[in-house]
Amino acid sequence: MKILVINCGSSSLKFQIIDSDSEQCLAKGLCERIGIEGSQITYQKTGGEKEVTQAPMPTHTEAIQLVIDAITNPKTGVVSSLDEIDAVGHRTVHGGEKFSKSVLINDEVIKTMESCNELAPLHNPANLIGIRACQELMPNTPMVGVFDTAFHQTMPPEAFIYGLPYEYYEKYGVRKYGFHGTSHAYVSRRAAEMLNRRYEDMKTIVCHLGNGASISAVDRGKCVDTSMGMTPLAGLMMGTRSGSIDPGIIEFIAHKEGLNVEQALEVLNKKSGVYGVSGYLSSDFRDLEAAANKGDKKAELAMKAFVYRIIMYVGGYVAAMDGVDCICFTAGVGENSPTIRTMICNYLFYLGLQIDQKKNQTRGEEIEISTDYSRVKVLVIPTNEELMIARDTVAILEGRL
Ligand code: ADP
Repeated sequence: MKILVINCGSSSLKFQIIDSDSEQCLAKGLCERIGIEGSQITYQKTGGEKEVTQAPMPTHTEAIQLVIDAITNPKTGVVSSLDEIDAVGHRTVHGGEKFSKSVLINDEVIKTMESCNELAPLHNPANLIGIRACQELMPNTPMVGVFDTAFHQTMPPEAFIYGLPYEYYEKYGVRKYGFHGTSHAYVSRRAAEMLNRRYEDMKTIVCHLGNGASISAVDRGKCVDTSMGMTPLAGLMMGTRSGSIDPGIIEFIAHKEGLNVEQALEVLNKKSGVYGVSGYLSSDFRDLEAAANKGDKKAELAMKAFVYRIIMYVGGYVAAMDGVDCICFTAGVGENSPTIRTMICNYLFYLGLQIDQKKNQTRGEEIEISTDYSRVKVLVIPTNEELMIARDTVAILEGRL
């Protein structure tokens, strides 16, 4: 089957066409600046040249039409007509407690998805716009929603409940949901395959370290805890997000700096994390590492603090699962930074974990970086959320999910 995978944001839209039999990406691209002056589409057929075309996209419907034109282009396209697209898989950020797995989208599902908008006001409405635009242009093609939160729905109540009045959970759904679930699901499964072990027998910790970062504990195929919360602001220190902090700080800073709650949260989302700690130097770990190597103390502190939060979660998750067999690194930093991986693993000798520094120099490739003697396996696994969305989409169509 050929699956169109769509990841729709408020002003951008990423897409891939995946052949589900070979699990290969046939083409991919990105529409940028939707609804803004200067919009453009980037398209690349696998093995072909990257093409960038300026084109007006007042709404997501024009963007999807341009995607359709690109993939059906007689010269550079990958399908001869839209009929060859068997289904569309949509990445959807928040499924609340309503969706613990992917679903075939119908009017009822859209209504339920709308009821989750409040929980992810920046992301969910954009995802829904993408779904509607696709439905308009491809009315006969089945659409599947794949939720970032679904994989984490197996967390037990003691892990997801906050120490707040219980009525907030009942009335408003205030609880931990977690995000990056598609990535955590893909990587934890792939780890079992790489180690030739049964997924249902393994205890795995997945460190998804990108600009947004989260970590999860997967106990015998089920997520039992994750670091992001009701919103993606919780947990690890990130590129520009603070991660978990003393909640009392919000009122304190708001008072000192003359900010309202929204403005204070803007600081926590956009000016904090390693970017904030480094004195607004950069949120990119390549810049931080280069600066730290030249003696920049704040850049060094930002990296150390980022790593420290991670090892605190690892320790917690080893306790939660009563052990760990495998630790996986994924996403931009996890896949590409031998330095950060080393800094993390240097804290984990107590687990009997040891990495091979030569193997650890690998970037962006699937590899086991632990030594033969290491009691805990350490894997680098480039994440592939699009493939996971395509797999789920096919499974739904075939009635397996
Ligand atoms: P997101 O999807 O959350 O935006 P990504 O997973 O794409 O983030 O990761 C982006 C981050 O990966 C960049 O901010 C950068 O810090 C980091 N990164 C990419 N390549 C390297 C590298 N070679 N060394 C260190 N960090 C890297």
